[in-house]
Amino acid sequence: MKFTDLGLNPLILKALETSGYEAPSPVQAAAIPAALAGADLLVSAQTGSGKTAAFLLPSLHRMAEAPQAKGTSPRILVLTPTRELALQVEKAARTYGHELRRLRTVCLVGGTAYGPQLKAMSQPLDIIVATPGRLMDHMERGRVDFSKLEVLVLDEADRMLDMGFIDDIKSIVARLPAKRQTLLFSATLDGVVGNLARELTRDPQRIEVARVVEEKASIDQRMLISDNHHHKTKLLDALLRGVTVSQAVVFTATKKSAEDLTESLREQGFDAAALHGDMPQAKRTRTLDRLRAGRTKVLVATDVAARGIDVAGISHVINYDAPRQAEDYVHRIGRTGRAGRSGTAVTFAGHQERHLIRNIERYTGVDIAVDVIPGLEPKPPQPRTDRPRSGPKGKPSSYTKSYVAKPWDGAPRSAAGPEAKPAAAGAPRGWIGEKNHGKPSGHKPKRAARSW
Ligand code: AMP
Repeated sequence: MKFTDLGLNPLILKALETSGYEAPSPVQAAAIPAALAGADLLVSAQTGSGKTAAFLLPSLHRMAEAPQAKGTSPRILVLTPTRELALQVEKAARTYGHELRRLRTVCLVGGTAYGPQLKAMSQPLDIIVATPGRLMDHMERGRVDFSKLEVLVLDEADRMLDMGFIDDIKSIVARLPAKRQTLLFSATLDGVVGNLARELTRDPQRIEVARVVEEKASIDQRMLISDNHHHKTKLLDALLRGVTVSQAVVFTATKKSAEDLTESLREQGFDAAALHGDMPQAKRTRTLDRLRAGRTKVLVATDVAARGIDVAGISHVINYDAPRQAEDYVHRIGRTGRAGRSGTAVTFAGHQERHLIRNIERYTGVDIAVDVIPGLEPKPPQPRTDRPRSGPKGKPSSYTKSYVAKPWDGAPRSAAGPEAKPAAAGAPRGWIGEKNHGKPSGHKPKRAARSW
């Protein structure tokens, strides 16, 4: 399938040509024609699936096909859980809408000054990208006009609910025109998200796309067993000094540990920076700009702050603290292997944290290889003195998998064929998965890879 088969306006196709995409991703191929036909959509798709273009392209198509006299009411509203994601979506809208005449976008997010946002809203406007909290703030003060709104997009709806935005979302939607198109994107469409989706959409079409991590054969996933904090610091140091690391994102469980680890990495001579939710927006943006420019080599981040980071140079994701939720793992490792490149994800986990790894493996359907760095081998596990929590009496507990560690120097295990090399600048960006990249060891999808 090609983009030209989707029925998009030529101005949008022209903008896509410059972005260098070769073909629509699966979620784009499914969602774009349905959205163009005017349907409400419930789409289960994750970060990295190309979901942003899946909702932006048909929305921009409307504007290209039926230009309206400009007013202060936007035609499109996109709600996102975090500021970073909002900024990224706004940027994508400007890229894909580059050929449209004077497309006006504004990003309404917390942690930034009100002045420029108020100014933008008093002028003609096409697209608002916002986080629910700040948008509510503006709406309560009667500063936003939604009388001409045509499309509402909820991006990463499950995350917005996780972050407690449900009441804000409901109040916002209650004040939007009832006659509108609603496009809801979420990693999952079950549970609370499903209920919200039913409330907000009319006769929606449901589109499900397989999990990204199964499709992204370009991320080499491994695990290093760690004894304690001190051991983790040594493992991290060894990894970061590896020749294959160009840039890394290191995830910690708390803001405080992100700050502390950054400090200690700086003392060891790394160009490190922290990114977490307590930092003012201007500082977060500066930090990301430095990362994008390649001046920061190691970004130490918490889950919330890292959502939406899309930097092609990130070769490694290191889970210094193993994620508690399998879904967070998928989001984290999606920070590498961007833009058709290959990446490596390494998770540190203590013996007592292996259940977290097993949950992740179950969720993704991918085995994570266990490795050791020579000289930094972990201590053998202490024999358990407690009784097994499950299983019949006398039988071993849930420890069914035996981990055999192999020495490793931090380099991806894949045979470095031409496809494993980073794409040359300006080369067309094929959709990962279409090309069956050299599959690294340790990455064994349990289901057969789909050919796109
Ligand atoms: P998203 O899931 O929207 O965050 O997109 C993930 C990444 O895929 C971004 O870097 C996009 O620029 C890129 N992308 C989106 N659509 C395509 C496509 N059709 N071909 C290649 N790359 C794409």
